[in-house]
Amino acid sequence: MTGLQIPSDDASHPVSTGIPGIDRHVHLEGGLDPIWVHGQAKAVGQQVPDSLEAFWRGSAQPFSGFIEAFLFSSSFIRDREAVRSALGAIVGRLPQQTTGPRGIDLWVSPHFLVRFKQLLSLDELWRGLEDGISEANRLGVSVAVVLDAVNHFGPKHGHEVLDLVEGSRPEFVVGFSIGGLEGVPFRDWAPVFERARSNGLRIAAHAGENGPGENVRDAILHSGVERIVHGVKAAEFPKILELLAERHIPVDICPSSNQALIGDLGPHPLPVMLRAGVRCALGTDDPGVIACDMAGEWDKARAMGLTDQEMGLLRRFAIEDAWSLKL
Ligand SMILES: [Zn+2]
Repeated sequence: MTGLQIPSDDASHPVSTGIPGIDRHVHLEGGLDPIWVHGQAKAVGQQVPDSLEAFWRGSAQPFSGFIEAFLFSSSFIRDREAVRSALGAIVGRLPQQTTGPRGIDLWVSPHFLVRFKQLLSLDELWRGLEDGISEANRLGVSVAVVLDAVNHFGPKHGHEVLDLVEGSRPEFVVGFSIGGLEGVPFRDWAPVFERARSNGLRIAAHAGENGPGENVRDAILHSGVERIVHGVKAAEFPKILELLAERHIPVDICPSSNQALIGDLGPHPLPVMLRAGVRCALGTDDPGVIACDMAGEWDKARAMGLTDQEMGLLRRFAIEDAWSLKL
């Protein structure tokens, strides 16, 4: 096991001055304000599904309920203004009192919105993001966009996502990622990731969430993934934690989402991962469905028994590995 390197905190971001205004993993499609969604549903005479109402109340639901709730909520991203509104809601979930840089690493699924659901045009999506990012910037919040493809749709779908954005990709798009069910071996994704990388994109992947911890290892070793989303199942494997630590792979941890969606999670492994030297940081994932905000995620991390020093590591990694702060 790699020894934990505790970096000394720098003067500009001392641990004692609170939590950073950074959300390291959040989906545009899962970030809408519940009140806004409620209003949209009412306007068109649609009933909000029980699953979404239950999530908003904080009740645990099966994964199928999450899919239903997510699809319903995201179905209202129908124009440029809805995209701007979604990003505005995400910015609003950053802690109010913060020091240091503020940023959001924003996962966006253009293929889902534009092709699969045909909710709006790609141009409307980009313009809505431009609007939302301009507003965020005015509040001192940097935003980086990561394209999200669906793992279980397979590599052909991954190429279609890249095809879709080729030629129109704005500068704020900095990464490519896969999510959904971990159904396709990560090595099969390697050619898609290679193409994305050759197009100047960084590579992330949801792994070790609804699939086994070994997926985290495979994503790193067999497909060149440089950042892991969730990765909590890797905590069962000290060798994989060692790999993450040795390679300085950032891991985005979303406590509320993990606890809501991973039935066999047990005690959240964030402390185990941090103590193994893994560069973990916090995010909200789908805060418009699984109601949460960044201040609450920090409270949850603290409640896991982290020391001040470990909380300091979390805030340090949040800043150092944020793609939004590298623009
Ligand atoms: Zn996610």
